[in-house]
Amino acid sequence: MALEIKGLTSHYGRIQALHGLDIQIGEGQLVALVGANGAGKTTLLRAISGVLPVSGGTIRFGDADITRMRPERRVRAGICQVPEGRQVFGPMSIEDNLRLGAFSQPKARLAEDIDRMYALFPILKEKRRLAAGILSGGQQQMLAMARALMGRPKLLLLDEPSMGLAPLLVAEIFSIVKNLKAQGITIFLVEQNANAALSIADTGYVIETGKILFSGPGRDLLDNEQVQNAYLGM
Ligand code: ATP
Repeated sequence: MALEIKGLTSHYGRIQALHGLDIQIGEGQLVALVGANGAGKTTLLRAISGVLPVSGGTIRFGDADITRMRPERRVRAGICQVPEGRQVFGPMSIEDNLRLGAFSQPKARLAEDIDRMYALFPILKEKRRLAAGILSGGQQQMLAMARALMGRPKLLLLDEPSMGLAPLLVAEIFSIVKNLKAQGITIFLVEQNANAALSIADTGYVIETGKILFSGPGRDLLDNEQVQNAYLGM
């Protein structure tokens, strides 16, 4: 298992946001977590990356129990997150944004890794000296993904990459996600766009008010009538 979450609970003050979640992500798998606004998706990602302390349960990454590990050590261990809303550094150049993503990596790899990102995202190469703030939403999503990939992740956490993007761009972002999986990166994809996410996922989980309602192969969830009625607009 790449990531194994057992009985995870999380609180904001006295309010419980996660109610004992169990999630398993196999090595090299693409696992999707879908659910509505406020269901707890971002809270779970923040618990996995370690920026939010958990109140109970365990998170294992490979052989290690990382439940209480500091966030920067999790990055060094290979967990990199692409935050919701991209959060690129607007006034900085695209290339400098990429450099920031490499903080956990040896300097000697920097040039090679930047070139790898430009091969993966040619538009970023074309605009590399420009401020990240001038990029379109879809291009900023690519930059946010490239910045996370600069950390050479074993596990990539994607928080709603399709948010605010036109359908054509959503398709492009999801095809990039599939391509990353093909390169052997384990991916945990969190999405409100359940249709698109479950279509490419090996395994899917449906979360509602901090609890997992359904889980199974992505295809099976797409065919599940209750999931269709509640999340797929059918
Ligand atoms: P979204 O798509 O809006 O990001 P989400 O599924 O990611 O939704 P979360 O942001 O994880 O949902 O929120 C889960 C629950 O925790 C919600 O009820 C939310 O109101 C609450 N919550 C989130 N952040 C905080 C916070 N900083 N303080 C208090 N409550 C919070």
